[in-house]
Amino acid sequence: MAEKRDELRRFTVTPLQTNCYAYVSAGECLVVDPGGSGAAVAEHLSDVRVTCVAATHGHGDHVGGVAALCRATGAPFAIHAADAELARHAGEMSEVGRSYDENAPAADRLLAEGDVIEVGTATFTVMETPGHTPGGIVLVGGGSAEGLAFVGDTLFPGSHGRTDLTGGDERAILNSLRRMAAEIAPETMLLCGHGPATSMAVELARNPFLR
Ligand SMILES: [Zn+2]
Repeated sequence: MAEKRDELRRFTVTPLQTNCYAYVSAGECLVVDPGGSGAAVAEHLSDVRVTCVAATHGHGDHVGGVAALCRATGAPFAIHAADAELARHAGEMSEVGRSYDENAPAADRLLAEGDVIEVGTATFTVMETPGHTPGGIVLVGGGSAEGLAFVGDTLFPGSHGRTDLTGGDERAILNSLRRMAAEIAPETMLLCGHGPATSMAVELARNPFLR
């Protein structure tokens, strides 16, 4: 019997309409950025084994649902070391005047450049992309996930994430975007933290911040 193909599920969570993604491969599942509604997201993943919950960065709208999702699935939580502390305050009032579901738990795995998250026949390699936050990362797909990247709030179609919040750094995000342009294949689909997906080829043509 042919192996079932990998699957990408998307859940829109929090008042900021954060994209929470679930990448399913060979019965295993990586969840990226459960910003809220962790228990509800878990219910939609009852047919797979969640093996990792990862955050592209520590803002509350990306990690507010981590605790509930990890409780429901027993999965470990992974985030870059530089954003782990930020994530632990997701449930408290933030500088943008909001709080999210719950503080994220302490990280089970601290991510750094070049680390690989395996899920089924797919791999996701950590690229450090500071600028929106100090510990922002992009997860670049390989294996059966070749051609996909989770880019969090580092890149949006024609634009980039805001750098005016605590820990934001305009020069750093421009460096990160240039690095993405150089190292991520043009045909790669870029799955953003909010709004629609794009591709590196489209961004290379239209995004002024990649030049
Ligand atoms: Zn953010």
